[in-house]
Amino acid sequence: MVNFDRYRCLRTDYLYNECSICSQICPEAVSFENNITVDESKLDTRVLGVCPAGSFSDEDYDPHLFTIKFANGEESVLDDNATVPLHTLTTEHLLTLILRKGKLTVNSDDPIVLDNLAKANAFLEEFGFTQRIETAEESVKSRRDFFKKVFKSVRQQDLELTSVYDYESRIPVGRQMLRNTLKEQLPNLTDTAGENSLLHSKSIEFAGCDNCGECIEFCPTQALRLSEDKTQIYFLQGDCIDCGICNHICHSDAIKDETRIDLVEFAFNKAKTLITHELIPCAECKTPFPRKGDERVCPRCNSFISEHSDLFTMARDI
Ligand code: SF4
Ligand code: SF4
Ligand code: SF4
Repeated sequence: MVNFDRYRCLRTDYLYNECSICSQICPEAVSFENNITVDESKLDTRVLGVCPAGSFSDEDYDPHLFTIKFANGEESVLDDNATVPLHTLTTEHLLTLILRKGKLTVNSDDPIVLDNLAKANAFLEEFGFTQRIETAEESVKSRRDFFKKVFKSVRQQDLELTSVYDYESRIPVGRQMLRNTLKEQLPNLTDTAGENSLLHSKSIEFAGCDNCGECIEFCPTQALRLSEDKTQIYFLQGDCIDCGICNHICHSDAIKDETRIDLVEFAFNKAKTLITHELIPCAECKTPFPRKGDERVCPRCNSFISEHSDLFTMARDI
């Protein structure tokens, strides 16, 4: 039985979020009237590998624990005909497997699996890793027994293995795994920076940002943070799930996606300063505001003064 945690869904975080990936996979189970409505009895496990927020889980099957166990085993072929539903493994799970094992063959014609596999291989190529996940044409029936054994042992749940990862965190466990895996793999790379399609960094245009804080308030993972003195906005690459809420909510369109990222920032979750404001008290209302140039009055007072310029002129004339 697949469970849905509505408090992880991006649409619950932000009413105007337009994510609909799960409904494309299970249209009969998901609808969007006001907010998301899910009929769990009609869900199938295909939604597990596609939700960017990790909103779905299965009572019988834990893809994270399976990934840990498979990564530590000797087998290197994943077969879709076995009892392991490969479509529940995300791109991050596949990357964890190939980077930890050095070689991995996937035997599946499921479009979700092939899409995640293509994204994983693109990631490896973009960052100069030599490993690639291979695909097998023929089904390897002889491996079914092996998978049944792995699946069964996963159900027995070795809690020590899962305790490394925070299942309650808003950062999906697959992404936590990839971060940990990369920490070990980065010394093998000559250059840790690159363009990629799986992860995005952020930037903020200085001219557009008025330090309103809405992007920080609505970021579901706290990847955006405000400095204690409220003058700086930090971005933690490793905590960003690319939901796009910050981009959408910014009233001045000041937040931009950056495709070039550094894997060190992602893996070690280093904070990057996106913007530094100079806060000064407004000469009129005394409220601190972020100065862009040499102005002394905050934008709100400024627009009030210009909207009511006639009144100020009359007051001066009296
Ligand atoms: S895929 Fe996940 S985040 Fe997107 S609408 Fe479905 S449950 Fe919400
Ligand atoms: S980037 Fe946009 S939403 Fe975030 S603080 Fe600046 S103006 Fe507000
Ligand atoms: S930084 Fe933006 S895109 Fe990343 S998780 Fe936060 S709101 Fe979503």
